[in-house]
Amino acid sequence: MKPLVAVVGRPNVGKSTFFNRMIGERLAIVEDMPGTTRDRLYGDTDWNGRVFTLIDTGGLELGSGIPVGQVGLTGQPGDLMEHVMSQAHLAIEEADVIVFMVDARSGITASDEEVADLLRRTKKPVIVAANKADNAARRMDAVEFYSFGLGEPIVISSIQGVGTGDLLDRIVEEL
Ligand code: GDP
Ligand code: MG
Repeated sequence: MKPLVAVVGRPNVGKSTFFNRMIGERLAIVEDMPGTTRDRLYGDTDWNGRVFTLIDTGGLELGSGIPVGQVGLTGQPGDLMEHVMSQAHLAIEEADVIVFMVDARSGITASDEEVADLLRRTKKPVIVAANKADNAARRMDAVEFYSFGLGEPIVISSIQGVGTGDLLDRIVEEL
């Protein structure tokens, strides 16, 4: 079986954009609305000759039955954050490498902290990817993600394709 690499993180940080860039647009759906990917999506890819399966864990983020606007402590609708956390638990069980994606434009949110608390408890390799670092100022801002205690954040822009090679280098180092 190929090694599994799961991309986890709260909705709207750019998980599907990264996944689509790696796998091709036929599999994941990305829209401007947060959370339109309904299920976990699996796609095979390779980097420097290493083949692995990438998992986009965003799913069931819409149509979960929760009234719009009902927001929990973390600023995300309750079911939505539960889903993020259950996907993170699943990633810890199933994946060989976990990519924890965050948003360099918004900075750290309470939802990010909740995911980070969980990921700090696994012995599996976790790579922090600070996405949406589209310019020099955003790349500088990304140092704040060191505070998760999960190692050096890899700064990327999934839209521009900048830094994604560095992220893939880090991923295959851990396979
Ligand atoms: P997901 O919910 O984590 O899967 O996030 P999506 O991939 O659906 O992206 C959410 C939004 O962020 C979309 O509007 C994307 O176009 C946007 N986005 C994703 N990556 C980047 C990036 O590198 N830079 C910027 N500026 N926007 C991005
Ligand atoms: Mg998504």
